[in-house]
Amino acid sequence: MSTVLETEEHQALRAAVAALGKRYGRDYMTSVVRDGDHPRELWTEAAKLGYLGVNLPEEYGGGGGGMAELSIVLEELGAAGSPLLMMVVSPAICGTVIARFGTEAQKQQWLPGLADGSLTMAFGITEPDAGSNSHRITTTARKDGDNWLLTGRKVFVSGVDIADATLIVGRTEDARTGRLKPCLFIVPRDAPGFGRSQIDMELQAPEKQFELVLDDVLLPADALVGDEDAGLLQLFAGLNPERIMTAAFGIGMGRYALARAVDYAKTRQVWKEPIGSHQAIAHPLAQAHIELELARLMMQKAAGLYDAGDDIGAGEAANMAKYAAGEACVKAVDQAVHTLGGNGLTREYGLASLITAARVARIAPVSREMILNYVSHQSLGLPKSY
Ligand SMILES: Cc1cc2nc3c(=O)[nH]c(=O)nc-3n(C[C@H](O)[C@H](O)[C@H](O)COP(=O)(O)OP(=O)(O)OC[C@H]3O[C@@H](n4cnc5c(N)ncnc54)[C@H](O)[C@@H]3O)c2cc1C
Repeated sequence: MSTVLETEEHQALRAAVAALGKRYGRDYMTSVVRDGDHPRELWTEAAKLGYLGVNLPEEYGGGGGGMAELSIVLEELGAAGSPLLMMVVSPAICGTVIARFGTEAQKQQWLPGLADGSLTMAFGITEPDAGSNSHRITTTARKDGDNWLLTGRKVFVSGVDIADATLIVGRTEDARTGRLKPCLFIVPRDAPGFGRSQIDMELQAPEKQFELVLDDVLLPADALVGDEDAGLLQLFAGLNPERIMTAAFGIGMGRYALARAVDYAKTRQVWKEPIGSHQAIAHPLAQAHIELELARLMMQKAAGLYDAGDDIGAGEAANMAKYAAGEACVKAVDQAVHTLGGNGLTREYGLASLITAARVARIAPVSREMILNYVSHQSLGLPKSY
């Protein structure tokens, strides 16, 4: 892929992460999943090299960069076949929200660990009755003296088992209006009343998804991140990085699948020429390449706007980047599997399981349809149907 739009530092970062990814790659991830393990070695090494905390402030052990750099890291690890899904939540959402809105104590407690990989944080917003509609979430925090009591349910929250804490989106009651407003709480993994059960997913990935039950989880006053009255702003400050990082995840996976298919198409010969000489094979691969490049351009725009402090502009671009990357990823993986013929469905070639994995980029953290809704209403001013 062309890197003409990136600074020399970015290009160097891309090359260095690609080299790290190459040392691990898809075989490493496959064996981690087979053993029911987590990609600890890769996580630790990437952290030690400064890649996981590249977006976090330097004074807390981070690299002082932003989403432009962090998205490069995830994209390149994914392109090597070894994406780290927890990067989407731990440094990108949780690290960003704490760095921007956390108290000094929260920053000191969490940021150095998130940056050096010794601490991981999950992020829980989705609820059983409020999937795409996060205005409907009912997880509620009540005051109990100086403390908080948090009650509710969450679903599909990734990595809660390995995360030291989960950043939970709840609501508190506005003292003046009685209306519920969103608030973010840090809930330690072993907090009493914080239960989790693993959801049986058809995904071959080391990161597992959990249903969470919060039953009057007692939290100290300082479990609340930032300002009780600015929850929505803080939430969006975390959701834009999540979308940018999901785009990076999708582009990385799409690139990995495409590269495998291109290699195969160059050598597989069933007539006189390799199958890649047939346009029915070559053109869809070329299309996939174009669409991944376009998605990456939009991701770079979103990251650039976000890093420049334009949360509103970044919102539209991050949604568009996530949409474009999700679609490009699904198409690239589908075409890659098809290119390999029967081998596309074998365990040995390992592409078939990506068909399921690619769908994650289309549905999470915000589905294709919800992005189309957003663009119809916000960008085009069309009326709302729901
Ligand atoms: C692998 C994986 C990991 C995840 N990790 C996390 C995590 O770490 N933390 C977390 O909080 N969540 C996580 N999620 C949840 C994810 O964000 C949700 O699945 C997603 O937001 C969609 O919500 P839902 O599943 O309830 O679908 P629903 O909201 O029920 O939507 C179902 C379908 O209806 C469509 N739809 C809904 N409303 C409309 C509308 N108004 N117009 C048109 N179409 C509509 C949707 O596009 C979708 O196709 C994860 C999900 C997956 C699959």
